Amino acid sequence: MINWVPFNALLKSKASRCIYCGDAATVHEHLIPLAFIESRQRKSDGRYLRGESCADCNRLLGDRFFDTLDDRVRFVNQKLRAVDAKVRVAEWTADELADMGHSMRSHIRNQQRVKAKASRRAAWVDSIDYVELREDLVRQCNEGWPNNDSLRNFVSPGWSRHRA
Ligand SMILES: [Zn+2]
Repeated sequence: MINWVPFNALLKSKASRCIYCGDAATVHEHLIPLAFIESRQRKSDGRYLRGESCADCNRLLGDRFFDTLDDRVRFVNQKLRAVDAKVRVAEWTADELADMGHSMRSHIRNQQRVKAKASRRAAWVDSIDYVELREDLVRQCNEGWPNNDSLRNFVSPGWSRHRA
């Protein structure tokens, strides 16, 4: 059981993006599932350490427990990469598309949008926006709970722990 989780803490994402995929965040998700928080620390309305995510990523994570936020991100990213690998769209030339009927053309355009979204979500953790979002989460923890080393260890990305 875990006893260091701050009560009623919301880590805000820059630009309200999902931590895991970079899409617009729509839910506040518990970074430590409630079942793992020591019961004497639990309060009635159950709001503990939360982050911002999209409904999709939140559903992927379910009530799984991870030792660090990095592990959560890695878990979701593996799922997103698997989806991206499965969604395949053939390359079409402008001439080929021009020869098609309207419904076939719009079907292909729709597939291309699905593929673009899957690739964008899978590549999110390699973006500078992701790095900035994670640095901002660490800053929020340092400022809000300066003495909570367990929280810092949970939130700090591996790459920042190995620096300095
Ligand atoms: Zn997401």
